[in-house]
Amino acid sequence: MTKFFYRLFFICFVLFLTGCGRTSPRHYTDTDTAMGTVIIQQIYAKEDFTDEVLTCIRRLETESLSKRVEGSEIFDINGEAGKEAEIPLTPEMEEVLSRCLEISENSEGAFDITIGEVVGLWDIDSWAGMSTDNPDSSFRLPAQTELSETLALAGYEKLTLENHGIRVPEGMALDLGAVGKGIALDEILALLQEREVMGAVISVGGSILTYGEKPDKSPWKIAIADPENQGGSIGVLTLTGQCCVSTSGDYERYVEADGVRYHHLIDPATGYPAQSGIRSVTILTKNGFLSDALSTACFVLGEEKGMELAERYGVEALFVREDGSISMTEGMQSYFSLSKPEK
Ligand code: AMP
Ligand code: MG
Repeated sequence: MTKFFYRLFFICFVLFLTGCGRTSPRHYTDTDTAMGTVIIQQIYAKEDFTDEVLTCIRRLETESLSKRVEGSEIFDINGEAGKEAEIPLTPEMEEVLSRCLEISENSEGAFDITIGEVVGLWDIDSWAGMSTDNPDSSFRLPAQTELSETLALAGYEKLTLENHGIRVPEGMALDLGAVGKGIALDEILALLQEREVMGAVISVGGSILTYGEKPDKSPWKIAIADPENQGGSIGVLTLTGQCCVSTSGDYERYVEADGVRYHHLIDPATGYPAQSGIRSVTILTKNGFLSDALSTACFVLGEEKGMELAERYGVEALFVREDGSISMTEGMQSYFSLSKPEK
């Protein structure tokens, strides 16, 4: 009889111990700003990691990627442009820059981080509600000569990346705006993997990370914005586990001058906003850097060449054409479903 009670006690004790670690994950949400954009987080975990994620994005911005923040690595690199000596790079920046150069080569220069001065001439970073119709606006259309002179000093093939250092020619500035949000997704992913996180969906502007699963195991649903209708969507991606989705669209950041709309995706061949026949490109893959870099590159390249580039990298792509019609890689079809037309 005592034996029986000992056993019962032992079983209860084991059940108690295993139960201890099983508090179910809670749903934490946060909306904030960083990297000049909105960060929206939904995390399923036992603890609230949203502050840690935000700190991670802000650190990346101020210590490494922002060309406007004094003391960031890219700010310092740009400050040394024109100097004979090589500028030493952190291993992380060396990796980012060499991956950017590879995308430039493979996109025939449609993607080019050396157009920082051209982006500066357009003053893209301060576009928000600016237009020449607005009397308070400081927007000034860059002169053609000014643009061609500045553009002549850009060009990824003029960068020298060797001996863990870089040489940036006089008159050139690097701009990592096309990859910053994707790099942030990769850092966030590493953070979530280190913590006890069951699932998360985190959007950094136009780039979104899905990770793990929800407590009810239902898939993640990521809406793709309708370029014609701000706030509306053309369709939804149904995803499971770890995915990175980046969209580059002409509606994300633009300015209007004398009835003409100028957007923020510059064609390095002309110095003007790219006119490639599309309004947006969405890239789906597992890596944040790649999804972000390729969405910008594919926008500038347009549907035909963009599709080739996406296939070359083995990522899924979806293009929204100027007339609102859609085209996509074959693999994207299994994730995408059209939004139902409004009645
Ligand atoms: P995204 O929204 O990721 O497509 O990035 C757009 C940002 O990248 C712009 O605001 C510019 O700072 C920068 N950018 C614009 N055009 C290009 C380009 N052709 N190659 C690389 N970066 C670009
Ligand atoms: Mg991008």
